Amino acid sequence: MAVVRLLVAHGLRVSVSEGAPLDRLAGAEVRELATLGVELESNGHTTAFFTRPDFIVVSPGVPLTLAALDNARQHGVPVIGELGLAALLLRTPCVAITGTNGKSTVTTLIGDMLRLSGQEVFVGGNLGTPLAEYVLGPQQAAAVVLEVSSFQLDTATVFRPRVAVLLNITPDHLERYPSYEAYIASKWSIFRNQGPGDAAIVNLDDQEVTRLVNTHALASRCYPFGLAPGPGPGAHLEGRTAVLRGLGAGDQQERYELSATGLADEPNLHNAMAAILAARLLACPETAVRQGLAAFTALPHRIALVAEIGGVAYFDDSKATNVGAVLAALDAMSRPVVLVAGGRDKGGGYTMLAAQAGKKIKGVVLIGEARERIAAAFGTLVPVAMASDMAEAVTRAAHLASPGDAVLLSPACASFDMFTGYAQRGERFQEAVLALARRKK
Ligand code: ADP
Repeated sequence: MAVVRLLVAHGLRVSVSEGAPLDRLAGAEVRELATLGVELESNGHTTAFFTRPDFIVVSPGVPLTLAALDNARQHGVPVIGELGLAALLLRTPCVAITGTNGKSTVTTLIGDMLRLSGQEVFVGGNLGTPLAEYVLGPQQAAAVVLEVSSFQLDTATVFRPRVAVLLNITPDHLERYPSYEAYIASKWSIFRNQGPGDAAIVNLDDQEVTRLVNTHALASRCYPFGLAPGPGPGAHLEGRTAVLRGLGAGDQQERYELSATGLADEPNLHNAMAAILAARLLACPETAVRQGLAAFTALPHRIALVAEIGGVAYFDDSKATNVGAVLAALDAMSRPVVLVAGGRDKGGGYTMLAAQAGKKIKGVVLIGEARERIAAAFGTLVPVAMASDMAEAVTRAAHLASPGDAVLLSPACASFDMFTGYAQRGERFQEAVLALARRKK
């Protein structure tokens, strides 16, 4: 809808093609399309619709292999995405954040820091408001902070962020990419249009990111972050203090103490380093950076403690939709874990997860379409139980847990087989945990 409004405002004639039947579309949106004079086809995509336009803007949720899009490309019709379109019109300096995990956390944190410095900031992209909505307005912000997904990068050939952050790369979305290499290349493409005046912030504790940094040239200035101090400018950790090197005059360092903040544990120590670097590179004053760190509270459904019942702590990490995010959550747990996982498979495999059986993981409860695949990976390494809904999963997890353990919902899968999204999945988990607490009273 943001793209339609933008194009109509620029005087273009717009047609919308929707795979779902008309009665499944939101009435308000259908009415708005009619008011804007937009032609709408629904319940499938016809060839004529896709071969006659000057260009096509595709939603990031739509696979680029869709037959209708193939057909369009064969007819010479360019296919771009919302970010690619909006980037053509963007005049505000932009920091873009990508990576398999941590994007929303880092995007929010950078936005908070810049806002605390008194600047007007636009925060959005893959998180919240699309960039198309911002470029339709007067573009008065001092900075734009954008969460960017791989799907958005794939269709944004002209996008050039002034500061680009690559947090990590682990297998994800392999149901959409022809190979893991293709997914990795997509993530790296955040840097492809950068020039010498721009900055690339990269995580040198991530195996894939380090490999890319070592094998690919960057036109922009590289600012690595990681546990160990590197030779040039960047950030590293000393205990729970983030140390910034080489941003000010000479070899002066800036130190940011994180132990008393909501970022005191991994994976947030790494997220904090990335955010501090980005904010400082955008000339955000040190005091605002410190205030942003101190004020940080975790976003919902990211390793959030729901309740402690009979000595067992229940954590909602519903946003963990891939194995990499689950491994990060397991790292953050100081207790033995009964893991609640499963949902729609994303093609990455579960071997790395099963490797935690008998280490961090003492039992597993599985839901959703992927449960047989996950169960096969775990085999008989730890007790594995199956559940048909979230309430049953929580009950079964409670049976497997002893006082001193944690029950962690960290699904390693998408949620769309059983829920409207990760938020609803997390809410169902919280409801089930609170119902359990009432029963145990
Ligand atoms: P994204 O927007 O990339 O999905 P979020 O900030 O929403 O990232 O976090 C998604 C999941 O990844 C959560 O389960 C969170 O605990 C986990 N996570 C957050 N930061 C990192 C990180 N740097 N590395 C690995 N996992 C992370």
